[in-house]
Amino acid sequence: MLKYRDPGMNNSRSQKDKDKIMAAFNNARKKFELYEKFYLGLSQEAKKYLRHQSEQYKKILSDIQGIILSAVQKNCSACSHCCCNLDAPQIPICESVGWFGHVDYLLARCATILPDPCYENAERNLCPFWSDGCTLPPDCRSYRCTEYFCHRLESEIDMQLVYKYKEKIQSVITGFSIGQCMG
Ligand code: SF4
Ligand code: SF4
Repeated sequence: MLKYRDPGMNNSRSQKDKDKIMAAFNNARKKFELYEKFYLGLSQEAKKYLRHQSEQYKKILSDIQGIILSAVQKNCSACSHCCCNLDAPQIPICESVGWFGHVDYLLARCATILPDPCYENAERNLCPFWSDGCTLPPDCRSYRCTEYFCHRLESEIDMQLVYKYKEKIQSVITGFSIGQCMG
């Protein structure tokens, strides 16, 4: 079990809070590992269904990337504040690894081998997919990871357009049938 050793930007947190964060993170890790087990157990028929949905999901994520990329490249590489922390007050991401839920995990995982999460990152208050940038392919992020834009990015990106694409992602996720994957 990992211990929260370096509180990063949240030095003010009490040990009790840090223990709570790590307990949540360790649960998130278990949940994430179950998502992978579920994926590996899918039948060929289920994978056929999943592939179709996954292509839609990844296409929308790529489209969003096309809209935001120049602002992200310009700002994030020069930013001294990594916002992919586990316990940033406004965006606690330790409820699941990489912020994945079971549906977006399956959609992202389909036909792609994702990089191994670096769980030791949690000791430094960082997302397991962080290593000087996100290690996940841009079209394999979780839905929640498409939700957060800092004020700097928001001021440079056509957010109305992004919101339209986010609605499309949501409809792929809500229209997804876990039942079809369970046969
Ligand atoms: S999204 Fe904003 S806060 Fe996060 S790394 Fe980029 S510029 Fe920095
Ligand atoms: S998965 Fe990538 S974008 Fe999302 S919180 Fe982790 S490092 Fe950041």
